[in-house]
Amino acid sequence: MVDAQVVHRIGMLTRLQEIDTRLAELAAALAKMPSRAAAIDDRLQAARARVEEVKADAADDLAMIRRLEREIAATEEERSRYQRQQASIKGNKEYAALTAEIAAAVEHISAAEDEMLQLMEAEGAREEAVARAESEFARVSAATAEELQDLSAEESALKGEQVRLLKAREAAVSDLPEADLRLYEKIRSMRDGIAVVPVVGTSCGGCYQAVPPQRVAEARAAKKLVHCEYCGRILTKS
Ligand SMILES: [Zn+2]
Repeated sequence: MVDAQVVHRIGMLTRLQEIDTRLAELAAALAKMPSRAAAIDDRLQAARARVEEVKADAADDLAMIRRLEREIAATEEERSRYQRQQASIKGNKEYAALTAEIAAAVEHISAAEDEMLQLMEAEGAREEAVARAESEFARVSAATAEELQDLSAEESALKGEQVRLLKAREAAVSDLPEADLRLYEKIRSMRDGIAVVPVVGTSCGGCYQAVPPQRVAEARAAKKLVHCEYCGRILTKS
């Protein structure tokens, strides 16, 4: 004959363990929420940074084109000035010096023009890169907004379950003899939050040590609380 009162106490302890195990899972899941939200935001910030980067590259190239334009115009002016000076010069030496200056200016202009042309040719590719980064940002932005919404819904659900379980815990606790509750809390605090385990085959479901047949029989009989002799956890029939 099983003892109905003991069966009830074991039932309540088992229920309490289920609640506490789930509460621990919920707490762990909720603790991960901020870092999960941060990881989602990191992806958004990376996509934003990429847009800024390609835009900055494009702006740099544009600034370089403007600088080359000014440089070409200034060198053109220099060249004209040398040519005007040359027209009024009589000495061969000075004339030759100005010829060299003019040749250097022409070479400088040609090099600057080549560089500018290359930059202008790359303009299409730059615009494409900006457009690609912007469309990627739009995609990531929409996806991450959805993920954050899902995460927030998940968090609400976890918190809701937490509130329900805390109420259920109160009910289970009020239904348990105080000595049982103290014992349960003591074992739980010493054994990784697990105080009540089933006998699995002929082993303790907590520490997996063999449980002597006599104890297995006692756990089945449910006439008293039976403990694992190694870890001290309360054994229930599987
Ligand atoms: Zn054990």
